[in-house]
Amino acid sequence: MNGRAHGMATKVAAPVVAVVAVATTGEWLLGVAAAIGCLAGLIIDPDLDCNSTLQLMNASRWRMMRASWPIGYLWFFLWWPYSQLFPHRGLSHVPVLGTLTRLVYLAVIPLGILVALSFTGHNITPAALDIWMLVRPRLDLIFFAVCGLIVSDTLHWAMDGI
Ligand SMILES: [Zn+2]
Repeated sequence: MNGRAHGMATKVAAPVVAVVAVATTGEWLLGVAAAIGCLAGLIIDPDLDCNSTLQLMNASRWRMMRASWPIGYLWFFLWWPYSQLFPHRGLSHVPVLGTLTRLVYLAVIPLGILVALSFTGHNITPAALDIWMLVRPRLDLIFFAVCGLIVSDTLHWAMDGI
């Protein structure tokens, strides 16, 4: 399945995911979070594991690079190590687990910056606590956004016919 078809499926799924989230929770903000998470699947998709030129031509990473220089180039090279770590249509395409590999991969960057700052003598504890205090009251938003992304990735997996 090509990247355009995957993108269309994600765009169709996003409002459905939002309606289901609102219908089950009664909170419209959770529906928005789920839809945003689902739409994030347009750029944080399983095909970030593509490592050959032919595979990349179909992938969102390639389209990002062409569409939005220099952010697209940064995005392209940000995911290059991921494409080397995960073979195309391997673990990165497994529903839920594949999504988690990409989220952990993305989390490594800010964590790496914090660790690097701590080694340079900066006290990162207040900043880390501030972030945690900001996020903690609404962890449900993050949970619903991740669920939306999982829906997008699962559609991708189903359409790939793996
Ligand atoms: Zn794929």
